[in-house]
Amino acid sequence: MKNIKLTTNYLKLNEFFYSQSKAVPLKNPKLISYNDKLSKQLNISTDTINSEEFTSFVNGEYLANGSEPFAMAYSGHQFGYFVDNLGDGRALNLGKLGKYNLQLKGAGVTKYSRNGDGRAVLRSSIREYLLSIAMDALHIPTTKALAIISSDSKAFREKTESCAIVMRASTSWIRFGTFERAYVDKEDNVAKLKELANYVIEESYSELKNVGNKYEEMYFKIVDRTIEMIALWQSVGFMHGVMNTDNMSIEGLTIDYGPYAMMEEFDKGFTCNLSDYENRYSFDNQPFIAQWNLSVLAKVLSPIASEDLMNSYNDMFIGKFKKKYFSIMASKLGLYTYNFNKDGNLIAKLFNALQEDSIDYTSFFYGLSSDTLDVEGSSINTWLEEYYKRLEQETTEKASRLDSMKKINPKYILRNYMIQDAIDKAEDGDFSLLNEFVKIAHNPFSEHKKFEKYTKANETYETMKCSCSS
Ligand code: AMP
Ligand code: MG
Repeated sequence: MKNIKLTTNYLKLNEFFYSQSKAVPLKNPKLISYNDKLSKQLNISTDTINSEEFTSFVNGEYLANGSEPFAMAYSGHQFGYFVDNLGDGRALNLGKLGKYNLQLKGAGVTKYSRNGDGRAVLRSSIREYLLSIAMDALHIPTTKALAIISSDSKAFREKTESCAIVMRASTSWIRFGTFERAYVDKEDNVAKLKELANYVIEESYSELKNVGNKYEEMYFKIVDRTIEMIALWQSVGFMHGVMNTDNMSIEGLTIDYGPYAMMEEFDKGFTCNLSDYENRYSFDNQPFIAQWNLSVLAKVLSPIASEDLMNSYNDMFIGKFKKKYFSIMASKLGLYTYNFNKDGNLIAKLFNALQEDSIDYTSFFYGLSSDTLDVEGSSINTWLEEYYKRLEQETTEKASRLDSMKKINPKYILRNYMIQDAIDKAEDGDFSLLNEFVKIAHNPFSEHKKFEKYTKANETYETMKCSCSS
């Protein structure tokens, strides 16, 4: 542990942006899983991971060299309504290791906990830990998770549950809501916005440091990264569930995994968050909500950047998003001579067919890639005829086309019922299934023969819905 040295540049900002805080450790912590890929990237040895000190580090008790824990302040639009005093109510930043800012989720109350207990239960910690690994392996920009501990501490949600902590790692934890917080400052919001924007440029967009209109350029980059992220989400069927502006990353990373779900039988109107009564964050709405969130960001940056320029850039969101999304879908279909104007309609028709015949999103593309497609329905049959005809124009040989398709069409996605099986075992003290799923999460394109049953939707579960913050 001695050679883990953290830095805390964020503390150079005005105290308005954070509050220094201390972890409230959990009772009897046990390391139940760690992310070996990330630990290697961070140069943390297996011996260190297996040491008592490391468990204590994840529990917030052992302070690494240079670590000065703090919680970040932010505001945000939650379900469309502005809330001023949000912030890390249950996350504690420890400092930066290499390019990753380490954070403990569930390490006790902070200045921003409001009525919350500062805890995260084992169930939701496992959900975040597993999916952030899976998204990374699917090449989708995301915050990461290094390790997870269980404990004997309890918290009450709908019932009493055991608490856990995930050590998260991200190149940035700044949210759209962090800028919203600076905007509503009554003393000097221009100074606060500039201070934060300069920090963001330093940390995330250093190529802009010496650019003339750097704040507008920063905004444009955030728009582009968000478009990329949402197009990738839609292409694998990821539904975030709580796309409030405080859950939107200024680096276009998938952040704050809560009631998310992966699309199973295709249903474009599906909403995975039980508390989202108006279907605000349904699958199909995700791009529109992202654009709306970016319009909030443009508004709050307007004291330091041209609102007109920002808005006209954001006006191009949906057009650019559709081009990006469809080109990813074309690759998933092995259409390498794809042209948006010529083939866009074929892709749009696929979504209708998948919807009409309730076809499993992931299995469909995997079936095409492995030549094992097994679907029924008149809409999909009509679509397939057109697709096979279109394939005749492709110049690559079938075998090499299927090879390339298999590299981007996962066989495994972490379906909610599957994750729930790991949670049920973990709640009984058995973490073996969790660790098997960690391997699957890291390798979604590989065979995992023992777990073949999880490649299909489970009809007795339907796609499970979860509620907010647990
Ligand atoms: P979320 O919906 O998880 O993004 O959380 C929204 C806000 O509520 C954030 O400011 C969180 O830090 C805070 N929050 C959620 N759960 C808790 C909790 N158990 N204790 C304290 N704050 C919480
Ligand atoms: Mg959040």
